[in-house]
Amino acid sequence: MTLTGARERRVRTGGVELCVAELGDPEQPTVVLVHGYPDSKEVWSEVAGRLAGRFHVVSYDVRGHGRSTAPEPLRGGFTLEKLTDDFLAVVDTVSPDRPVHLVGHDWGSVQSWEFVTVKRTEGRIASFTSMSGPSLDHFGHWIKQRVSRPTPRRVGQLLGQGAKSWYVYLLHTPVLPELAWRGPLGRRWPGILRRMEKVPGDDYPTPSLPADAAHGAWLYRDNIRSRLRHPRADARAHAPVQLITPVEDVFLSPRLYDDLERWAPGAIRRTLPAGHWIPRTRPDQLADWITEFVTSVEDERPVPVASGRHADRFGGQLVLVTGAGSGIGRAAACAFGEAGARVVAVDRDTESAVRTAELARLSGARRAWAETADVSDERSMEKLAERVGEAYGVVDVLVNNAGIGLSGSFFATTTDDWREVLDVNLWGVIHGCRLFGRLMAERGQGGHIVNIASAAAYQPSKALPAYSTSKAAVLMLSECLRAELAGQGIGVSAVCPGFVHTNITSTARFVGVDAAEEQRRRGRATRWYGLRGYPPEKVAAAILRAVVRDQAVVHITPEARGARLLSRFAPGALRAIARLDPPL
Ligand code: NAD
Repeated sequence: MTLTGARERRVRTGGVELCVAELGDPEQPTVVLVHGYPDSKEVWSEVAGRLAGRFHVVSYDVRGHGRSTAPEPLRGGFTLEKLTDDFLAVVDTVSPDRPVHLVGHDWGSVQSWEFVTVKRTEGRIASFTSMSGPSLDHFGHWIKQRVSRPTPRRVGQLLGQGAKSWYVYLLHTPVLPELAWRGPLGRRWPGILRRMEKVPGDDYPTPSLPADAAHGAWLYRDNIRSRLRHPRADARAHAPVQLITPVEDVFLSPRLYDDLERWAPGAIRRTLPAGHWIPRTRPDQLADWITEFVTSVEDERPVPVASGRHADRFGGQLVLVTGAGSGIGRAAACAFGEAGARVVAVDRDTESAVRTAELARLSGARRAWAETADVSDERSMEKLAERVGEAYGVVDVLVNNAGIGLSGSFFATTTDDWREVLDVNLWGVIHGCRLFGRLMAERGQGGHIVNIASAAAYQPSKALPAYSTSKAAVLMLSECLRAELAGQGIGVSAVCPGFVHTNITSTARFVGVDAAEEQRRRGRATRWYGLRGYPPEKVAAAILRAVVRDQAVVHITPEARGARLLSRFAPGALRAIARLDPPL
C-alpha cells in the first residue's frame, strides 16, 4: 500500500534504506510528515492528500517500519541520534537548498522534538508542528520538577501520566511485546483502532503493522530510560513551534505541556476534542492548521491567533449561528469571532445578519459571512445548507439559537399561534440538526451542536404554554440526539437561560389581549428584563464553554439553576409557582 499518487524513492543512511514518498510540487515549501508508533507513513495519507495542493509533501517510513529496512542489530539501532541522522539524510535528498516544515505525530513528534532542539539541524527546519508526542528532555524535566518539589497537585499529575503510560512499561519487557504484536495483538489491532479510537475505513493500518510494532518497541527501549533520567538542559527549539493537543488522548496528559513556553517561546497552541490518532480522525482540521502555520512562517508574518477565550479550540473552525441578528445569537457570533473562528451569521433579517458579521470580524473572526434564511422554512434551510456547504465547507459548530417569544393562556393561543412558535422554536432546531448535523456526521470528523432551549423547558407557567412546550421539546430533542451522535464524536448541548436582556421582549407576542394592552405588556417586560440586566454576552461565554467541555445541559442565570433544582427536588413548589399570574 502506498500514499495515493506518491512518487517513491529510497534513501540510504547508517546501514538502513528508508522508503520516502513525495506528493505535490517540489518547487513549493516542503512539509515533512513523521509517523509514530505503531504506524507507518500511510498514517498521514489523509493529511498528505489535503496538503499536496499547496506544498511539496514528504513522508518516510521510519527505520524498521513499513518498507524501510531495519537496523542490525535492533538493540541500539533506534537511538534519537540515529533517527536524527535519518531525518537529515531525507531532507538533504528532498529539499537540499531550503529548510523544511516538520510535522510529527506520536513517536514521530518525540523524535522531531529531538530534531528541532539539536545543534546540527539548525537552519534545516523552518517550523515544527507537534502532536501527541512530547520531547523526552522536556518530559524528563517535567518529572524531575514534580518529584523534587511535590505538591498534592503535582503528585496527582505524576500519578495521572504514570497511569496513562502503562504500555511504556510493558514495551520495556523482553520478547513479550514482539510475541504479542506478531500474534494476537497484531491481528486485533485494526479492530481496536476502529472501536476505541474511531479510526475510519479499513485501509489502515497497513499489513506491515506486526513487524512495525515489534521493531518499534526499540524506540522505547533505546531512549526512554536514558533520556528521562538525564534530560538535556538546553533542549530549546530553534524553529517556531505549533502544538496540537487532542484532549481525549488516552496516552498523554495535556499537563505535560505546562512548561512549553520555557522550551519553545511563543509556541502556538491548538486543542482538539479527539483521541490519539488525529491524523486519521481529524485530517481536515490538521491540514487547515498546518497550512495556516506553514504559510505564515513562509510569508514571515505572525500566525493569526485570536486573543479571545478558547482561541486554541475554535481558531479557524467554521461556526454557524442562527438568529444571529440580535441578542444571544449576535453575542455568540462575536464570542466565536473573538476566538478566531470563521463565522456564518444567519438571520431572517438580512440587515441585522450583515451587521453581526461585521461585528464578528471586528471581534477577531478569521472570516465572517452573513446569510439570510428563515429557520422555520424547510426549503429555505435546505438552500442555506447547500450554500454554506459549497462556499464555506462543513460546519464544525452549529448553534441553533433563533427563537421567538409568545405569551398568553392556553385557550387564548390559537392553532396558528402554536404553529408559529413550534415552527420557529422547534422545527427551526430540527431543520438545523437534520441538515447541518447530517453533513457533520457524514464527514466523520466530529463537531458540536448547541441548541438554545430555556429554563422554561422545565419551569411550567400558565402564561407560556406554547413557548415552554417548544423549549421542553428542544431539550428532549437535544438529549436524544446527543445519545445518537455520541459514537461519532459529535457533542450536543442544550443551553437553558433564565431572563436575559435582549430584544425578545419587544418582539414577543402577547395573545388574548388587545393591541394597546400587548404594547403595554411588551414595554413592562422589556423594563423588567432590563432591570434584571443579565447580558447576552454571558450566555455566549457559557455557549463556548459548553462546547469546550461537551456539557449536555447548561443552566444559565441563578433563576434557571433555582428552577432546575426545584424541578428535581421540590416539583410541587415549581407547580405552585406555575399558577401565579406573571408580573406584567
Ligand atoms: P432576540 O429577539 O434578541 O434575537 C432573536 C433573533 O432570531 C432575531 O435576530 C430574529 O430576527 C431571529 N429570528 C427569529 N425568528 C427567526 C426565523 N424564523 N429565522 C431566522 N431568524 C429568526 O432574542 P434572544 O433573547 O437573543 O433569543 C435567542 C434564543 O434564546 C431564542 O431561542 C430564545 O427563545 C432563547 N432564550 C432567550 C431568553 C431571554 O430571556 N432572552 C431566555 C431563554 C431562552
